[in-house]
Amino acid sequence: MYEKLLRTIYQDLENSFEEMQTIRRYLHMHPEVSFNEHKTAAYIQNFYRKLDIPFEANVGGNGVVAYLTGGKPGKTVALRADFDALPIQDEKEVSYRSTVAGVSHACGHDGHTATLLILAKILLAHRSEIPGTYVLIHQFAEEVAPGGAKPMIEAGCLTGVDAIFGTHLWSQFPLGTIHYRSGPMMAGADNFTIKIIGNGGHGGAPHTTIDAVTVGAELVVQLQQIIARRINPTHPAVLTIGSFHSGSAFNIIAGEATLTGTVRTFDVTVREKIIEEMERVVKGVCFAANADYEFHYLRGYIPLINHEKETVFMARVAETIPGITEVAEMDAVMVGEDFGYYVEKIPGTFFFTGAKPKEGIAYPHHHAKFDFAEEAMLIAAKTLGTAAILYHNHK
Ligand code: MN
Repeated sequence: MYEKLLRTIYQDLENSFEEMQTIRRYLHMHPEVSFNEHKTAAYIQNFYRKLDIPFEANVGGNGVVAYLTGGKPGKTVALRADFDALPIQDEKEVSYRSTVAGVSHACGHDGHTATLLILAKILLAHRSEIPGTYVLIHQFAEEVAPGGAKPMIEAGCLTGVDAIFGTHLWSQFPLGTIHYRSGPMMAGADNFTIKIIGNGGHGGAPHTTIDAVTVGAELVVQLQQIIARRINPTHPAVLTIGSFHSGSAFNIIAGEATLTGTVRTFDVTVREKIIEEMERVVKGVCFAANADYEFHYLRGYIPLINHEKETVFMARVAETIPGITEVAEMDAVMVGEDFGYYVEKIPGTFFFTGAKPKEGIAYPHHHAKFDFAEEAMLIAAKTLGTAAILYHNHK
């Protein structure tokens, strides 16, 4: 029914590739970390203002939500793109390298933003022919819990929305591919800090001290036993100690040690079980060594659980799009994503768009040399746009 229109939209998107690339590179050169994305938000607002597309600013924080209503009746479909960057020094040798010291778009959210802005522009050009309403959600602060999705939802960005679609450009998947998964797709991501308070002293007189290094080492080992021996192996979970800081000199026994880490799960009961077990291990190991401790656990994003109907629909849609060579089911990943909050409220799906660089090394997300194939933005825009337009016929 919309075949001819979609073909025109694909052509228009391709003709706008340079503009998309220009936007992406501008944002890439001017990154802002989570919760501080004021200039990026202003850039997005300005883009919509120039097109005369109505939008709301400061939604739940730095969020921007634009609204586009087509000329034909239909449902209300939201599309989401995040726009925050990371506190990582850009180490790429490219013309569009970050101009901000210690900050870079090392996750590709600049690409998500450029994708959605250009898609909005093309949808506007075909306004009279498209059905329904399009809610374009530009989300701040995806990288740092509590994140931007939650406050934007609380501010009403999903009011009246029937379904939502979102994608992540993914440098580890080849260009031209789409990767989907029904059900649990990305993990709930928490973090914790354990401070061990012992009693320092002379390296040659351990009996007069409470050694925080040996207590910390014991904790690193014992905490792994929670996953290995106390969690049902059919329920995936990760417990990572990411940092362990202690001590000041080779001949001094450290009186304090601080461990930080992350827990990833797909199920809230598994998460709560891990927290309970961690408390027991920390308490027990410290008790045995006569050390004190402080244990802080921060519950982060909930797991991202995709709706089956919308996932299957999106995958079928993607198969029809020229330029997409493969639409494949993917394994769940233990990376966190606050898109989970949207699909907790309304039907929808989040998928990965292959964006592996055409040459050189495909550095992973959050790497100082991370980059992606910019043509992937076209694939993402075509897929999101087609899903949004055809969803009106979806049963
Ligand atoms: Mn990301």
